[in-house]
Amino acid sequence: MILVTGNYEPVGMTPFLYLPEMLKTITLRRCANVFFAFLNYIFLRLGLKAPFKTHAITISLELSSVCNLNCPECACGTGKINRQPQFMLPETATAIIKAHSRYAFIAQLFFQGEPMMNPHWATIANQCRASKLFTIINTNGHFLTDSNIVKLIKFDINRLIVSIDGIDSATYEKYRRGGSLEKVISGAKKLAQQKKIYRKKNPEIVFQTLVNKHTESQLNDYKSFAKKNGADSVRKKSMQLYDRTPENLIFWLPTNTQYQRYNSSKRPIRKTGCFRVLSVALYTTNGALIPCCFDKAAKFNLGNVEQNAWFGDTRKTFIQNLFSLKTANPEICNYCTEF
Ligand code: SF4
Ligand code: SF4
Repeated sequence: MILVTGNYEPVGMTPFLYLPEMLKTITLRRCANVFFAFLNYIFLRLGLKAPFKTHAITISLELSSVCNLNCPECACGTGKINRQPQFMLPETATAIIKAHSRYAFIAQLFFQGEPMMNPHWATIANQCRASKLFTIINTNGHFLTDSNIVKLIKFDINRLIVSIDGIDSATYEKYRRGGSLEKVISGAKKLAQQKKIYRKKNPEIVFQTLVNKHTESQLNDYKSFAKKNGADSVRKKSMQLYDRTPENLIFWLPTNTQYQRYNSSKRPIRKTGCFRVLSVALYTTNGALIPCCFDKAAKFNLGNVEQNAWFGDTRKTFIQNLFSLKTANPEICNYCTEF
């Protein structure tokens, strides 16, 4: 069984339009880094030490730890996030971009919280683009105002993922509590129109839906709904659940097991490593490096960019524990779908 965590599907000519954008980020140094990172992964999986000093391939910046919505399975939306409600400062972002951009290809400007609530989101995104990073923003779509649309186009942001779970308001509001499907659709449509007017390819507009019990019956119609409302691609994503009580699993899990990350009988999976921890540098709003996006509560603070945390001992120990069979997995890895 293939567990779907998030597949992209083009709506039309998307791969031909957007592949060249990705190719523009290629440099010899970045390619060599990917190659050696893969070699490190192989060594670690064989139980050996990683011989090469490799850098992050993707940087991920949490621009905001606050949100305007109250999604029930989100630490931020339910107020359970264990860090200061704040926005990442531009100087923190600059230090991170500076530390990683010679080797990284991709900048993901999201984690928890709504990134476009950060008043500096466009400045930070612009810096990423100036460093030739393929720049992606994931938004709930409530801040697609006229001025933000202009910035998305002007700063040539590569991809905008808009979370839209369901094709009608009743379904959408089951998860995006406090949100308005109408408002999101109106913003997305305007962005698509402005791209046409200015003859711009970027940003690629991706409509993303969580596949849950309420949205799964709409999956067949999702692509045409997305196309009609300005999307270039769609993405279907399985749901990560905090509350894994049987009642909650029954409420959210889709019947199609391909999209289920959990079921009531499933035990934690013993991991022996993953490539993500070797390739993604994820920083929270306060500039703390954490192992990956499964650490939503930021339990594993590996240090910050000033401390050169990517090459620090805390990260090394985390990786050793993850790849070694002699030690227990870090807790966040138990329900992870990454290999
Ligand atoms: S929109 Fe995103 S950050 Fe905001 S509450 Fe929902 S899942 Fe959380
Ligand atoms: S949770 Fe663990 S196994 Fe999964 S991606 Fe993160 S570090 Fe890797």
